Amino acid sequence: MAESEITHASWGMYPPEPQHMRKLTSRHAGLPLTGDETVLPYGAGRSYGDSCLNTGGTLLGSAALDHFIAFDAATGVLTAEAGITFATIIDTVLPRGWFLPVTPGTKYLTLAGAIANDVHGKNHHRVGTFGAHILSFELLTSDGGRRTCSPDENADLFAATIGGLGLTGFITHATIQLMPAASAFLDGQSIRFGNLDEFFALAESSSVNYDYTVSWIDCLSGGTSLGRGHFLRANIASSDLVAARGGKTGAGLPLSVPFVPPVSLVNRLTLRPLNALYYQRQQASVVEKLWSYDQFHYPLDAIAHWNRIYGPKGFLQYQCVVPVAVQREAAHALFLEIEKSGQGSFLAVFKTFGAVKSPGLLSFPMEGATLALDFPVAGERTFALLDRLDAIVVEAGGRIYAAKDARMSAATFRAGYARLDEFRKFIDPRFSSGFERRVMGK
Ligand SMILES: Cc1cc2nc3c(=O)[nH]c(=O)nc-3n(C[C@H](O)[C@H](O)[C@H](O)COP(=O)(O)OP(=O)(O)OC[C@H]3O[C@@H](n4cnc5c(N)ncnc54)[C@H](O)[C@@H]3O)c2cc1C
Repeated sequence: MAESEITHASWGMYPPEPQHMRKLTSRHAGLPLTGDETVLPYGAGRSYGDSCLNTGGTLLGSAALDHFIAFDAATGVLTAEAGITFATIIDTVLPRGWFLPVTPGTKYLTLAGAIANDVHGKNHHRVGTFGAHILSFELLTSDGGRRTCSPDENADLFAATIGGLGLTGFITHATIQLMPAASAFLDGQSIRFGNLDEFFALAESSSVNYDYTVSWIDCLSGGTSLGRGHFLRANIASSDLVAARGGKTGAGLPLSVPFVPPVSLVNRLTLRPLNALYYQRQQASVVEKLWSYDQFHYPLDAIAHWNRIYGPKGFLQYQCVVPVAVQREAAHALFLEIEKSGQGSFLAVFKTFGAVKSPGLLSFPMEGATLALDFPVAGERTFALLDRLDAIVVEAGGRIYAAKDARMSAATFRAGYARLDEFRKFIDPRFSSGFERRVMGK
């Protein structure tokens, strides 16, 4: 059992609170609890805020639980330990014709971290969240329990743990259903669109024929160009098409941000021109594309430690979803507020979620439109802007994503998550997080 102190334990480097970590070394051992400390499972720290932090308590690290347990290459059923990363899974299963059924925009997260946030990907409109593809997992609780959870066994604990933010116990290993993949490439189009109406028209027309859709928005353009951007739509390419078009999976040059600069490199001076430059770089309105899976799913992973560009104060990621019935008006209000503020990120991600029901009590996705963007922490004006965005989201009947959050109020959280009281019953009494204490009031 290795103990250590770690800094910058969440991806946004905010709140900047050092953490005490204890690493588990075997999935067969019990939970390593001491005294009356609270604990929180910890994966790869790819959550942005305090849902993966437990200041004053202990993080239970899963990095050493990174083994495959079983893989059936005929059915695509995989069993692996909690701390295995998506990157490791892909390296092993893709050459055998399988891919993750759902992946977020990084491959450096862990299997259990993906379950605990019930992560979503660019194919949500087709297949729902990651939780919908979990066949079972094993959960350790502080009463010494070791339970198998699946849709048929301990089904209530299964539903609480998917999207349960690590608060219901420690997952030791899980079994998931992978998705067939004919190649390591995606073929599709990048389409330039001029405003929000054009975005929604593209989202609607693309949802039938394309498994993956996402768009990058210039969040600082206003007027008739409010919400302009690039719409990407794609399917996994056939091996024939890849051979015909000469697809190459080369890893490219390894880039890295080597240290945290003294100030954020993303600021009022750099933001507007960077966004405009990106929007203008594609001159044709439609470009046919063949992407490697890394280029399509994980463009940000190409630069290691890119989170450091925001400087020592860190940054906040804001991700919300607004229901389909009011998505146009609510998205318009959100973009207008961001554009007026002059704050925001280099490229916002905007996408529509589909109607597939999420299995977790606290799962984030709902049918509607979701917006994600980064804000360098620039003092009170950043927090005031995010409060104004919260008000728009709550008024629309939407919610904020816990995996990205470090500052929403308890009232905002309660307004978005109708099954919160049902969930509370499953919180293990020894488990806690900064996020839980802030918004669930422990
Ligand atoms: C570049 C980037 C892009 C992203 N894109 C997306 C996206 O498109 N969609 C999306 O949904 N998310 C996205 N995310 C967020 C990320 O996918 C989630 O925060 C993910 O859950 C992080 O997993 P992790 O392994 O790093 O876990 P951590 O961040 O360390 O922990 C996440 C949660 O899992 C719990 N947990 C960890 N291990 C266990 C365990 N063994 N048992 C029980 N609970 C456990 C923790 O307590 C915590 O609550 C992105 C993040 C980054 C950095």
